[in-house]
Amino acid sequence: PRQFFVGGNFKMNGSVDSIKKIIGYLNDAKLDTNVEVVIAPPALYLLLAREHLKPGLEVAAQNVFDKPNGAFTGEISVDQLKDSNITWTLLGHSERRVILQEDDQFVAAKTKAALDGGIGVILCCGETLEQRENNKTIDVVTSQLKAVKDKLQDWSKIVIAYEPIWAIGTGKVASTEQAQEVHAAIRAWLKKEVSEKVAEETRIIYGGSVSEKNCKDLSKQTDIDGFLVGGASLKPAFVDIINSHL
Ligand code: 13P
Repeated sequence: PRQFFVGGNFKMNGSVDSIKKIIGYLNDAKLDTNVEVVIAPPALYLLLAREHLKPGLEVAAQNVFDKPNGAFTGEISVDQLKDSNITWTLLGHSERRVILQEDDQFVAAKTKAALDGGIGVILCCGETLEQRENNKTIDVVTSQLKAVKDKLQDWSKIVIAYEPIWAIGTGKVASTEQAQEVHAAIRAWLKKEVSEKVAEETRIIYGGSVSEKNCKDLSKQTDIDGFLVGGASLKPAFVDIINSHL
């Protein structure tokens, strides 16, 4: 069985004080020990988070660059993450694809660099509302994943996050049926394009307006193996989302 995985994407939110406060209640909470928990604060606070968060809970960057070092102003390397005991990174979040204009090839190159360096990747994919309305959802999501597949051998340190763009930060969560349908399609694609084993073992998590209210039903779906939480990861409700199976 796949271990349930819950990530908290703080995006460009928080301060030294507020992040310490969040970490304080996460450290003190009774968390389901069967769940892998990862928080992704802004880069500036990664070391602070790693220093304060208790062992067993993990820290992710929100992005990483694909070059090892050098004249790349504003970027952070995989080795620098490892040096800071950061074991995961998000990649391909829609906010980076749309606002920072990252394309599939760039996301794939960064995914390869992170995995080659031994960092786990939470790889985000998802469609716009227009793409959904034109019945393009599965095409869009699988073509985003294909760019990565073409560069990759080992899938063991990838978690796929399905995040429909129309559900991010809108309070408009995908229905359990809508989410399960896409998760099942991603798993079927993995089975066909990669292997049955990878399809069976890869965690596919859902993101987009996940809350303490909707997480239980979503968590019961066969192909939903966890969540990537934005807004609610900044609040105590994140504990309830981590514990959605209890
Ligand atoms: P919200 O949970 O705020 O909708 O954000 C989802 C997200 O983008 C997580 O990466």
